[in-house]
Amino acid sequence: MDYTTKDSCILCGKSTEYTLKTPIEERINYIETAGQLCQVCSFEVYGEKRKQV
Ligand SMILES: [Zn+2]
Repeated sequence: MDYTTKDSCILCGKSTEYTLKTPIEERINYIETAGQLCQVCSFEVYGEKRKQV
């Protein structure tokens, strides 16, 4: 696994600001069991920024 690679949004496939190395606890818009969302998709799905629960 390349830790410098940016994690991709699970919906649109766009790179997010987080690398694969970023701890989940430090991420915003990360959906447990699903993956990382970009801000745009997260906003579309949830209507606002979502923090991992
Ligand atoms: Zn997206």
